[in-house]
Amino acid sequence: MPTFVYMTSCDGCGHCVDICPSDIMHIDKTYRRAYNIEPNFCWECYSCVKACPQNAIDCRGYAEFAPMGHSVRALREEDKGTISWKIRFRDGTQKDFVSPIRTTPWGSLKSPSDYDEPSDEAWNSQQLAHEPEALNIKGGLPALDRKQLKKGYRKGL
Ligand code: SF4
Ligand code: SF4
Repeated sequence: MPTFVYMTSCDGCGHCVDICPSDIMHIDKTYRRAYNIEPNFCWECYSCVKACPQNAIDCRGYAEFAPMGHSVRALREEDKGTISWKIRFRDGTQKDFVSPIRTTPWGSLKSPSDYDEPSDEAWNSQQLAHEPEALNIKGGLPALDRKQLKKGYRKGL
């Protein structure tokens, strides 16, 4: 479900532009309001929906999910730490979903340049930055032990 912007609710703050991983949220130069320049390239990650302080971004449902006459409304309530989805089908059926969202204050995350330079050992490691601590997995990623593997092949494959 690609996103679109209600231009009358948007105030042009640009949070959706900053957060969009597909770089398709742009500010219209004339109206100073955001719009999705290429819905076909939308990842449907909904980062923009969650980031918009004006609740100005909604989703356009695909036909098989919500045929003509439907509506999908997303409401972000930072004080409650939730995002609610209200889906109304054209036969009047309504479904409501509430999910928790991150409540990390905007701009409070450290950027990569705020961290120390990785050591030589870290550069040569197979692990990504801050693994395994960042994954919260004690003892590292679960991996197969050589002893768990059997030599040979299965018949029929
Ligand atoms: Fe960009 Fe994701 Fe919003 Fe699509 S849903 S416009 S990819 S932030
Ligand atoms: Fe407009 Fe919301 Fe994007 Fe801000 S985050 S520019 S209010 S659509």
